[in-house]
Amino acid sequence: MVIYSLSLPLADASHPCRCEAPVRRAGKLIFRLSGCGAYRSAARGRQRQRPADQGGVQQVEGLSNISVIRELLKKHDFSFSKQLGQNFLVDPSVCPKIAELGKAEKGFGIIEIGAGIGVLTNELAKSADKVVSFEIDGRLMPVLYETLAEYQNVRIINADVMKYDLNELFLNDFKGLDVAVCANLPYYITSPVIMKLLESRLPFRTITVMVQKEAARRLCAPMGSREMGAVSVAVNYFSVPKILFEVSRGSFVPPPHVDSCVMQFALREEIPWRPTDEKFFFRVARGAFEQRRKNLVNSVSSALGTDKKIVSEAAASCGLSPNVRPEQLSMEQFVAFSDNLKNALK
Ligand code: SAM
Repeated sequence: MVIYSLSLPLADASHPCRCEAPVRRAGKLIFRLSGCGAYRSAARGRQRQRPADQGGVQQVEGLSNISVIRELLKKHDFSFSKQLGQNFLVDPSVCPKIAELGKAEKGFGIIEIGAGIGVLTNELAKSADKVVSFEIDGRLMPVLYETLAEYQNVRIINADVMKYDLNELFLNDFKGLDVAVCANLPYYITSPVIMKLLESRLPFRTITVMVQKEAARRLCAPMGSREMGAVSVAVNYFSVPKILFEVSRGSFVPPPHVDSCVMQFALREEIPWRPTDEKFFFRVARGAFEQRRKNLVNSVSSALGTDKKIVSEAAASCGLSPNVRPEQLSMEQFVAFSDNLKNALK
């Protein structure tokens, strides 16, 4: 695994320029510094800058401009990967809002998943004390090196977040800081990433992520509602989720086929339910929703390979009807059912 730590020499932090369209110098595309972004943050002592004509500083405001992005990506011979969920934000109003709601502020360290070309990373780095951002696509490393050159509080990890030990990150990178997650998630791993974050039991102050609108509805679905799935059981178990705002498909390049939502998970300080075996409880929840058209008893017995009679008795002994569907259960009923089943299988 290659780990890139972006830290570049400090230069003229009092650079008074303002970001506009990029200019060409000696055949190079130069992103201009912004008075409101680079200069302000430099005054807070979090940025390192190299003059643009030394090939160092690129600026974020330009990164919300479609033609600037196209030029940048062309320069780096980059083509979007659909498989990696590469839809980059280009609406300049969205990133500052996500960063603010996502706790990019003093005293906070932020974990970002999927840096892309660094448009949200830039916004996070302006206000948070530290940003650690995962990006799986090695082709984006030289781009990020350019677009984040002015920040010394950013670390880019060129790795698959799903394979990374987040405990280690907490211990080594965020000493003395509150930690929050803030990301425009690659859609193909929305649920696994959220599950990894929740199941880690790490004390994130908040988890703020952009996901597809449909996924947001599922993730936020309250227990007992039709939209529920196994992931909603886990989300409700570990956190209180809410949708913050919607983002239209036109805010991305390339535009995805669906609109998105920014949502936030406030982790429960104390989990009010106590299944006797939490691992088994989540196995039962996953099994219950594996075949959505089946009822609870049929789904669970086929997913766990357990005799239908035993599953049916476990349901009956907590007052559940034999035909109940998994999405009709409350959290208390799910816990009671999994406890009964666990006992019956001893
Ligand atoms: N943050 C950028 C933005 O808002 O424009 C990019 C967001 S884009 C939706 C998701 C990014 O996640 C892509 O750059 C993609 O390469 C990266 N990615 C995909 N799978 C990943 C994984 N398993 N671990 C880390 N990054 C991943």
